[in-house]
Amino acid sequence: MICVSVTSGGSGALADFVRAQQIADLVEFRLDLMGKCDLRKIAAVKKKPVIVTCRPKSQGGSYEGSEKERLGILMDAGKSIGANFVDVEFGTAKGMIGELAGCCSQGLILSYHDFKGTPDNLPEIYRKMASSEASIVKIAVMANSINDNLKAFDVLAEAKKNGRKAAVFCMGPLGTISRILYRKFGGFMAYASLAPEKEAAPGQLAASEMKEVYRADKLDAGTMLLGVVGSQENHSSSPYMFNAAYNALKINAVHVKFPVSSDVGSFVDGFRHLVQGFAVTIPHKEAIMRFLDGIDSAAASIGAVNTVVKINGRLKGYNTDVIGGMDSLKKKASIKGKKVVILGAGGAAKAIAYGVAAEGGSLKVLNRTVGKAKELAKKYGGSYGNLEDLKKDYDILINCTSLGMKGEMPVDEKLLKGIVVDLVYTKSGDTRLIQKAKALGCSTVSGHEVLVAQALGQFRMWFGKKAPEGVMMEALKSASSGNKPR
Ligand code: NAP
Repeated sequence: MICVSVTSGGSGALADFVRAQQIADLVEFRLDLMGKCDLRKIAAVKKKPVIVTCRPKSQGGSYEGSEKERLGILMDAGKSIGANFVDVEFGTAKGMIGELAGCCSQGLILSYHDFKGTPDNLPEIYRKMASSEASIVKIAVMANSINDNLKAFDVLAEAKKNGRKAAVFCMGPLGTISRILYRKFGGFMAYASLAPEKEAAPGQLAASEMKEVYRADKLDAGTMLLGVVGSQENHSSSPYMFNAAYNALKINAVHVKFPVSSDVGSFVDGFRHLVQGFAVTIPHKEAIMRFLDGIDSAAASIGAVNTVVKINGRLKGYNTDVIGGMDSLKKKASIKGKKVVILGAGGAAKAIAYGVAAEGGSLKVLNRTVGKAKELAKKYGGSYGNLEDLKKDYDILINCTSLGMKGEMPVDEKLLKGIVVDLVYTKSGDTRLIQKAKALGCSTVSGHEVLVAQALGQFRMWFGKKAPEGVMMEALKSASSGNKPR
């Protein structure tokens, strides 16, 4: 069940309740955040089960009055709305708990919060709570690392084994996966916001995103877990592309973002038994290699892995940036014997240089830092220079610098000709490089096309079948244009 919290007061509460009932399975009224509103009007339109909560300041809420007054507020609201559940904090006076149980039809949610971290004694805390008379045990703790989610998953597994209804999850951006994956690990419900700007707690996703992108309310123990491992700032659109593909092909899998700041080795140790595979992005493409059980020869030669596949329990690293670049380029022309200029000498350039050399193209690498261009070019017997050294003597130009995200041109537009490929992609559609190249009549390959092509390679590796290219491209375009579920 997905629970949406209503936090607005006044007439906004009624409007939000109506909206929340359209998307949520359960609606929580956060009385401490809402201020005054007419609860009879709320009761008149109630169609879904309701939780009433009045969280004190000491537990991360806003309520600052006495416990006696708080009891009164909860009782009044419970009765006026016809609440199904009342949420009270673990440690609330026994007498108060007894009275509250009488003002709702389905019993108490006993909750525990830790806004600083995920304690190691989480199972102990859960067991104490589970031995109470609560209908649902709720534990919300702050994730300080992606591996904190594992502690929440273990407690959920115990609750499931004991037939206890539980919502155990991590808060904050590092804990979002525990909200998405609640059903996979046996959780009873997860909290989501009505809209992106209406989060009642850190790390919540909008209910529409939980349902429409991740199908969080449909996952089960058999759902295969995949995702993209990157920094916390990772704005990868791959969950949109892959989840759309799983949905279209009715594959019971989910694709999430795994935010990992520095210790990618701990992530691999902690999650290897749970994942089917994962993508790797900045800044872990090189660092991940020493934590895997095997590396494909092309990825080893490039020196970077962007795709990890679990084969018979072993994690093997591949590089589909090569596949993406080459497959999308080969749709335009054969590379064999062509003069190819690569702009840049970073991770993407290394993958593309490997591919161009393997396809029999001749290589020139131009980069801001010429030393790096020299090193890369020498590896494949090519020439090198800086970005100003571009001349109109090539067949294919491939931009692998990070220039273009803010409208910058990596090279002078007068020098564009032949086939122009840009690995960079922006939210606003074609980069300036691609726009200029198109205007000059060049054949072009956009960053989105390369991205989808490399994702098709990943899909093939993970599932052994062809991905629905059109569905993935549509999902990517829609996500990039900001047209995400809200
Ligand atoms: P990277 O390893 O950080 O390399 C960045 C490259 O850009 C380096 O060659 C760097 O030159 C150059 N550069 C950065 N800022 C510059 C500036 N102000 N002026 C001139 N050159 C500059 O990054 P990467 O992983 O190779 O990725 C590069 C781009 O490709 C990113 O935008 C990434 O999103 C995109 N990409 C797209 C796909 C796709 O599927 N479409 C796949 C992979 C990557 P120096 O060596 O001098 O620092």
